[in-house]
Amino acid sequence: MERFAVMLLIAIMLFGCTVPSRTWNESTTSTVSGNVSVNDTPPFIDGSNPLKNRPPVVSLTSGNLTGYAPFQPSPIYYSCDDEDGNLDYCQLLSDGVVIKDSRTAADMSLDSSEWPTFTTAGKHTLEFRAVDKEGETASSSIVFTVTSTGDQGSGGVTQIPMGMRSLYGGNLAWPVGCELGVNCSISNYPDLDKDGRASCGNTYEGHEGTDIAVNWDQMDKGMDVYAAADGVVQWVFDGRYDRCTSFGPDAVITNPDCAPPSEDMYPGGISGYQVCTDLGPYCSAQKRIEKGWTQCYFCFWGGNVVVIRHPDNPYVFVTRYDHFRTGSITVRPGDTVTAGQKIGQVGSAGRSSGPHLHFEVWSDWYAPLDPWTTSCTPQ
Ligand SMILES: [Zn+2]
Repeated sequence: MERFAVMLLIAIMLFGCTVPSRTWNESTTSTVSGNVSVNDTPPFIDGSNPLKNRPPVVSLTSGNLTGYAPFQPSPIYYSCDDEDGNLDYCQLLSDGVVIKDSRTAADMSLDSSEWPTFTTAGKHTLEFRAVDKEGETASSSIVFTVTSTGDQGSGGVTQIPMGMRSLYGGNLAWPVGCELGVNCSISNYPDLDKDGRASCGNTYEGHEGTDIAVNWDQMDKGMDVYAAADGVVQWVFDGRYDRCTSFGPDAVITNPDCAPPSEDMYPGGISGYQVCTDLGPYCSAQKRIEKGWTQCYFCFWGGNVVVIRHPDNPYVFVTRYDHFRTGSITVRPGDTVTAGQKIGQVGSAGRSSGPHLHFEVWSDWYAPLDPWTTSCTPQ
């Protein structure tokens, strides 16, 4: 047992020595996030013989650009191939410098120990390149931004999984498994100044979130909802009816869960489309004075709701997700989640007239912010 412990210590020491790339300043929070794009060069075919002289193909198959400072990334996987078997070599370049080289067509990975060091803020490029014996090349590049937030403290990083769109300056992942304008739309933007208008598009007076709408067919097939940032699940409400089409008093005919609450609000209370939290440890006397709270609970009108806290994130305090499909929620209070992790599926529970995700971003307890001030679409 003791020998094992010593060997483990040596292994840790050795491993530590093989990772010289941790040149981040400990006091600097560094982010790899957002604006991740994969540009696949489409293979083109030699006109004289479509079965010969095909250019090679590279593609990114999976991977995450993840990491807190000191940077500890997840592996990236990519494939490199040439259909007519003439591959000469396959390379991975970091900001133009070859960091991995292969002479065979293969599914390849870039694991943590091979990961290049990104010590400067700004745009960086990882390029996957294949060259065949006819000298034709194909390449696929990932351009991403490394930002430094100076002395804002440790943590505070949201990593957007590769291939996912981002919003709020790259600090949040797009929270639905759909492509905006293709199979979903933003039906309402936030209206935080309560003037009934939103510069990006539709809204209604006092709407505090972003509504991302899909159709019933997509809901029935299952449209995933993702955590928009790393965090800890705060509250979960599930089990309410999920096919509401209206939410006035008449909605009780469809299902009582679609109609206005018939009871007063109270901590933990659930009635109609309303579900109320119990604030638990957040309900301190000091907090009540500090915040001017007279009530010690929050009520949501989304029926099936998830609220995630982001304790290490300097930009986002809480994200909130409403209207889930009944029984689809896959997280529980206290669970740690990462950006892009599935937390449930889109539904039409609560105060809803059709399948959509109502997505809120808070800067403090129940202080919604507008994540669309710099762009009206995910990046
Ligand atoms: Zn909404």
